Amino acid sequence: MQVGRYHRQEIFYPIGKEGQEKLAAGRVCIIGIGALGGSVAAMLAQAGVGYLRLIDRDIVELTNLQRQVLFTEQDVEDQVPKAEAAREHLSRMNSEIEIDARIIDANPYNIEKLITDVDVVVDGLDNLETRYLLNEACQKNGIKYVYGGVVGSGGMVMNVLPGDGPCLECLLGPLPEEGSYDTCDTVGVISPITNIVASYEAAEAMKILIGSESLLHQAISVDAWDSYTEFFDVDQDPECPVCGKHQYTRLEHRQKTYSASLCGHDAYQITPEDDGSFNYDAVVAALEQEGTVEKKKFFTTFVNDEADLKLFPDGRAIINHVASGEAAQEVFAKYIDRQER
Ligand SMILES: [Zn+2]
Repeated sequence: MQVGRYHRQEIFYPIGKEGQEKLAAGRVCIIGIGALGGSVAAMLAQAGVGYLRLIDRDIVELTNLQRQVLFTEQDVEDQVPKAEAAREHLSRMNSEIEIDARIIDANPYNIEKLITDVDVVVDGLDNLETRYLLNEACQKNGIKYVYGGVVGSGGMVMNVLPGDGPCLECLLGPLPEEGSYDTCDTVGVISPITNIVASYEAAEAMKILIGSESLLHQAISVDAWDSYTEFFDVDQDPECPVCGKHQYTRLEHRQKTYSASLCGHDAYQITPEDDGSFNYDAVVAALEQEGTVEKKKFFTTFVNDEADLKLFPDGRAIINHVASGEAAQEVFAKYIDRQER
C-alpha cells in the first residue's frame, strides 16, 4: 500500500488524519527568517502547514551560514534576500504548500496587515524593539503569538494567547534601553540553541493550528551549553500596559519615516510610510545622475562621496556608514525622499 507524505505524522495519535487536515488548512506568519525563523519555517513546511508567510528584511550574509539552516554559500554570493532564498529552498522541500515571501521590514505601518489573516504568528526576530511591537499588534488583534528568543547558548519560549494569560511584556517587563542587554551581535549565538527554541516554537504553532489541549501554558528557559531546561509560570500583570490596559503605544507611534539601527553593522534602515507614492524606477533613475548605481535583482546599490546605500522596491533603504539615525534620515531625505528639495 502506498502511504502518503504525512504518514508518520498521521499515525502520531495527537495529530492523526484530522489534525493533518487542520495543518493543511492552517495559516502561519513567521516574522524574521534567520536561525529561529528559518528552522521553524522548515519544520512547518515539512509538516504540511498549508500557508506560510515569511517576513524578512535582510540579505543572506556569510556569518548567517553558521546557524541559519535554509541558506547556502550561493545565496551569499548572489546576495539573495532571506525571505526569497527561504521560499526557494522550502518550495523544493514541499511543493504542495503556499509560501508567501515578503522582503520587507515589519514596522508600525504594516505589521497589523501582516498578521490579521493568519492563525498564528511565530517569532523569528533578532531584536526586542520589533518583538514588543509584534506583541502589541497581536494583543490588539487577538492573534496568537509564539514567542521565542535566543542569545549565546540560552533561549526562551512562551505562547502569548490574547485573553488567556500573560503577554510578552508581562514576561520581560518594559523594553530595556538599546545597548543595555546582550544580543547575538555582542555575545554570539550557537546553532544548538536556535534549533531547540525553534523546535519548541514549531511544536506550539502546530498545536495551536490543530486546536490541541496540550498547549504550553508556562514559559521555558533553556540552555544548550549549560544543559538545563526550566519551565516556569508567568502571571498576567493587571498593570501591563499592553494586555492589561490595552495601550498600544509602539503601534500608534508612527512617524513619517521610521529608522532602526541594524545590529552588528554601522548602518541604519529607513522605512518611509507607504502612501503609495513611491516610484522605485524614478528614484533609481535620479540616483544614476549622482553616483554609481548597481541594479541587482532585489535591490539597487548607490555610492557617491557622501552616501552609500541600498534601496529596495518597497521604498525602504539601508544607509551604510552613518553614525546615527538622524544622519541616516538626512541621507534618505536627500537621495530617496526628494519631495522636500
Ligand atoms: Zn502583558
